[in-house]
Amino acid sequence: MTMQLDEKLEGIYQDVLKRNQGEVEFHQAVREVLESLGPVMVKHPEYMERKIIERICEPERQIIFRVPWQDDKGRVHINRGFRVEFNSALGPYKGGLRFHPSVYLGIIKFLGFEQIFKNSLTGMPIGGGKGGSDFDPKGKSDDEVMRFCQSFMTELYRHLGEHTDVPAGDIGVGGREIGYMFGQYKRITNRYEAGVLTGKGLNWGGSLVRPEATGYGATFFINEALRVRKDTFEGKTCLVSGSGNVAIYTIEKIHQLGGKCVACSDSNGVIFHESGLDLNLIKQLKEVERRRIQDYTQYHKDAKYVANGNIWEIPCQVAMPSATQNEINGKDAKLLVKNGCIAVGEGANMPTTPEGVKVFLDAKIAYGPGKAANAGGVATSALEMQQNASRDSWTFEFTEKKLEGIMVGIHNNCYATSEEYGAPGNYVLGANICGFIKVADAMVAHGLI
Ligand code: NDP
Repeated sequence: MTMQLDEKLEGIYQDVLKRNQGEVEFHQAVREVLESLGPVMVKHPEYMERKIIERICEPERQIIFRVPWQDDKGRVHINRGFRVEFNSALGPYKGGLRFHPSVYLGIIKFLGFEQIFKNSLTGMPIGGGKGGSDFDPKGKSDDEVMRFCQSFMTELYRHLGEHTDVPAGDIGVGGREIGYMFGQYKRITNRYEAGVLTGKGLNWGGSLVRPEATGYGATFFINEALRVRKDTFEGKTCLVSGSGNVAIYTIEKIHQLGGKCVACSDSNGVIFHESGLDLNLIKQLKEVERRRIQDYTQYHKDAKYVANGNIWEIPCQVAMPSATQNEINGKDAKLLVKNGCIAVGEGANMPTTPEGVKVFLDAKIAYGPGKAANAGGVATSALEMQQNASRDSWTFEFTEKKLEGIMVGIHNNCYATSEEYGAPGNYVLGANICGFIKVADAMVAHGLI
């Protein structure tokens, strides 16, 4: 169930399908942006003449490489590494690395494509890129993860640089992995180049608030969307899918703002705790001990674990999908709306299918799409780069205030653009158009490259 594209855009989309066969997530991400761009092409015929959309849909560079490594028993494994340097119109390529067995070129390209517009929305000087591997860190020892990261960086380092390409974390890549990759980069290049990776540890060039940034940022975005509707998080029952980096700090900020999160999940099942999630326990289980979320019930007998459960069946007023792509389908979206959900903030990238997005837009709930709502992570990465460049480190309060200001700014720009294009409150349209125009104008200014 997709919207009609205007004729010229349909031609471009068909070409994307033909040139990128089998990359279904990439097709989905491109189509979602093109569906918003019809009215922009009418206002800006120069974008069509200069083939800006065709150029934006073609990555500037795609790197695919072999990553050989040895496990603790000395057995050899081969994974595949990716880095897609999508668009550098606004700055060096910036975007995370994902380590998950489902990773293939189509996932990295969808993420890299989204990243172009997200980074543009932050107002910071960063282009769009993404990378990763089909390596599965789950169940691996620390030493195995280290050997993999070292092998991965032994190829990737030649493509990086603080003015060229600056990766960060994503699914399966947190502080531990960034540390091993930074160490290997430093060793190979003989340069302490802090600005080459973000998400670093605090005592070696990292920024306060970077671990919290994506979850806090998504919550700030929805807080602002609620404020526009003369509402707040106070007393709201909330669902947060996942239990990784984004989910944990989304729960934390929602609790600080007076909401109550009653459920979270991992890829095996769902925890439902009606009296409110115990965040300290989740942090201990997931961040420190790297255990499964199921173990939560060992400490709270009144909590329920549902193996392979569907978190979206639990009634809530605010839903924050923070796990992975396409985790909310049309049926889930209908159920959420029917059960009284008035706001959805996407901490994850593209967590809602096109059918689900249509349900949210038709119901006119406050729906913050990932490229706007989860931009706080990359924005704070850009703040980390600023601190690295000036060899400075800012306080938590100062950095968090900056993050909040950026998220309110993104919200307001998306809202103003949605009004300008006749669909007030449609943040999908607002984010796509606002993110696109800035990149398109820079590409026009740079000539045909
Ligand atoms: P983590 O690896 O820290 O956590 C991911 C969580 O989602 C885990 O609980 C994981 O469960 C669950 N999950 C992952 N894949 C699946 C799947 N296929 N099915 C069900 N559950 C799954 O990653 P992050 O928290 O960093 O990332 C979560 C989302 O947020 C991703 O979409 C990412 O792209 C997006 N994002 C992250 C940013 C960041 O700064 N980290 C910035 C912007 C967006 P399990 O442990 O069982 O795999």
